[in-house]
Amino acid sequence: MVRKASEKAFGEAQKVMPGGVNSPVRAFRAVGGTPFFADKGEGPFLFDIDGNRYIDYLLSWGPLIWGHAHPEIVQAVQAAAAKGTSFGVPTTLETEMAQAVIDAVPSVEIVRMVNSGTEATMSALRLARAFTGRQYIVKFEGCYHGHADSLLVKAGSGVATLALPDSPGVPSATAQSTLTIPYNDIAAAEALFEQRGHEIAAVIVEPVAGNMGCILPVPGFLEALRRITAEHQSLLIFDEVMTGFRVSFGGAQERFGIVPDLTTFGKVIGGGLPVGAYGGRRDIMAMVAPAGPMYQAGTLSGNPLAMAAGMTALRMLKDAGRDGLYAGLETRGKQIVDAFINAGNKHGIPTSGHAIGGMFGLFFHSGPITNYAESSACDKERYAQFFHGMLNAGISLAPSQQEAGFMSAVHGDRELAETIEAINKVFAEL
Ligand code: PMP
Repeated sequence: MVRKASEKAFGEAQKVMPGGVNSPVRAFRAVGGTPFFADKGEGPFLFDIDGNRYIDYLLSWGPLIWGHAHPEIVQAVQAAAAKGTSFGVPTTLETEMAQAVIDAVPSVEIVRMVNSGTEATMSALRLARAFTGRQYIVKFEGCYHGHADSLLVKAGSGVATLALPDSPGVPSATAQSTLTIPYNDIAAAEALFEQRGHEIAAVIVEPVAGNMGCILPVPGFLEALRRITAEHQSLLIFDEVMTGFRVSFGGAQERFGIVPDLTTFGKVIGGGLPVGAYGGRRDIMAMVAPAGPMYQAGTLSGNPLAMAAGMTALRMLKDAGRDGLYAGLETRGKQIVDAFINAGNKHGIPTSGHAIGGMFGLFFHSGPITNYAESSACDKERYAQFFHGMLNAGISLAPSQQEAGFMSAVHGDRELAETIEAINKVFAEL
């Protein structure tokens, strides 16, 4: 596959942007090679500036559950833009959006819209500290919650890929107020709370991890976090930036039947535009300005274009039958995982994987993969070969094994068959 225009574009980009990109994972550091530059998207397909077509399982890192440029979402954004792109005074669209999130996610009684997942998690932590009057937060190794200072500690995703243990520039005092333990380790959580429970404002967790590959919570893990935090009057924050409206309509909390105190959102709720949100218990959210003293604000928060895109995506998910739609996404994800594992078995290459709702993960390791240490032990070189093989066959996967894959509602049987055929072909050449 020829990518001359992308190579030239990347050369130009590197002269004017750090590493040639506006977000590190786009630079293909984990898999090597030159990133391709997008020209346009259409349903399950992404076209690069050389005219190559890819079946896209990156889907802008999760938001595009309706694929690229869905006509209804495009039309909603166009209609909103025609009326004005930002007002800085309230719109009824914002109330509609808040109501839609509250209706879908019962633990959320009040919600505040922001502009990114990072803002959502950063604000939720500030709120947890304000509400409890405690300083410490607990996160899990390999979970990524955006790039706020206190969360860039043992973070997965791009940080893991680039092997930045803790980013320079994060004050050590800030990093010290973040306590980290391994994902899925109930005993470690119990021991930590035994020691320091009275100082811990909140536990923040990806209820299905998506930033060290797609990793499922072991049975009892989320239940234990709910029990332990309640016992110690700490808050439980589900970071559903990736899983919200993606593993099921009501997020991972609906799927696993857990009620967190606060939840953060992003990705799917923006319908492909920059959006985040945080919400939860009414008594906690009452602390947020101007209702309460915890300050948090945003010039463009609740932006009408973003609200229109997000509302349309959510309405379409509801209209498409909610649970049936997510079951369909999971079935197709499982077919990809199965094809990957079977091809590994056939060629004597250790493989494993997971699929849940519209998320999936592929590992060059016999598994099980349950935490960051295990995900880091997977064969990275083999993944890089596999990634480039698939890309040249016209299939775009995440450019790191420690990232999740995403399925859209517009990926059909034909795309799936093409993907499975490519998996078999690429494994034969590994
Ligand atoms: N939390 C989770 C679970 C995420 O996956 C991400 C982004 N991948 C974030 C927070 C940060 O979101 P954003 O990139 O929009 O700031």
